[in-house]
Amino acid sequence: MRLQAALVAALLTPVAVSTQSQTVRIRAARVIDGTGKVVPNATITVDGSKITSIETSASATPTYNLGQATVMPGMIDVHAHLGWHFDKEGRYAARRGAPTEEILYSAENAYVTLMAGFTTIQSPGQANDVELRDAIARGVFPGPRVLTSIRQLNEGSGTADEIREKVCQLKKDGADVVKIFASASIRDGGKQTMTDDQLKAACGEAKTQGLRTMVHAHSPESIRASVNAGCDQIEHGVFANDEVLKLMADKGVYFDPNVGVVLQNYLKNKAKFLGIGNYNEEGFAFMEKGLGLNAAMIKKAVATPNLKLVLGTDAVAGAHGHNADEIVERVRQGNQKPMDALISATSLAAKSLHLDQTIGTIAKGYEADLIALDGDPLTDVTAVTRVSFVMKGGKVYKHVAAATARPSQ
Ligand SMILES: [Zn+2]
Repeated sequence: MRLQAALVAALLTPVAVSTQSQTVRIRAARVIDGTGKVVPNATITVDGSKITSIETSASATPTYNLGQATVMPGMIDVHAHLGWHFDKEGRYAARRGAPTEEILYSAENAYVTLMAGFTTIQSPGQANDVELRDAIARGVFPGPRVLTSIRQLNEGSGTADEIREKVCQLKKDGADVVKIFASASIRDGGKQTMTDDQLKAACGEAKTQGLRTMVHAHSPESIRASVNAGCDQIEHGVFANDEVLKLMADKGVYFDPNVGVVLQNYLKNKAKFLGIGNYNEEGFAFMEKGLGLNAAMIKKAVATPNLKLVLGTDAVAGAHGHNADEIVERVRQGNQKPMDALISATSLAAKSLHLDQTIGTIAKGYEADLIALDGDPLTDVTAVTRVSFVMKGGKVYKHVAAATARPSQ
């Protein structure tokens, strides 16, 4: 009896359990594999950090019987700013604290992001992302896998030659992706800022160096110029029209619109941002208007044939841990099919990161990045905000009883 009570207590406690070279079986009412397939009453077997099988007739006792939960691959957010935070006074701090404070805020954000079911994130980033990424990769400190741009390029980054030089330096410094600002922020109207030549230099050199590119672009001209410059992925795109949506689809360029988290979070936390930089009343008026523009844009984006929509939130201070709201809102505002929204957050996002052979899919040989949801996201998409179980690389970081699985923040 005592042993049983201890086991139950252990199962209900969210704790990191090392599973190295141990076989772990996870059973659930349904498994969504990340590519569009649903397997009912499935058992997933994990050995060490990898998935070794998924079957429907497993007889062995599961290590984790997740009952009516839905298991799917750990979610991927291709655009989250882990370093953004509010300071001790509750104000946006623009990352100007002491280095020790800054890295701890990033670490806190990494933790809540993982607890929300995101096992990989891409940070259009900052210098201390490198230490954060490497610390998490050592496997002790809990957080999602981090890919980072370290710095960013913009219209002030110099001539074409100087930009190529900067891309080479990013490669040497260990960047995973190059972040480029082709347009102003939505608070400043979103017009193209970098010249076509600057964009060609940035995305051309990145390709030569084997680096992916993600481009902040709001206006149709800035999107068109970025696609024509050979860039890989467009972020935001509030003013994207039918023509550039089709252009992205035709050229196989990934599109990461952000309609469910970032503006809502800014408006909710207005008092914490107001008066800092371009966070003025005019900027907030643009963002308020942006909600309606986004709602119209995402409908058109979802309806554009063959457009590769990936899940990204642009999560900033206040938004970490709420990343899955983006999935809910793409379905709600954009009429995206729940299954397509889940694919965009798993196998398709992995593909955009060139990691589709290792993560984003539940299949033999993949990394064991698995989460469980309280409910079925195909019938109630808000289930993606109720994460009851998180495993990353075969290690369990969260396991709570389904009835108490609620957002971590
Ligand atoms: Zn961003």
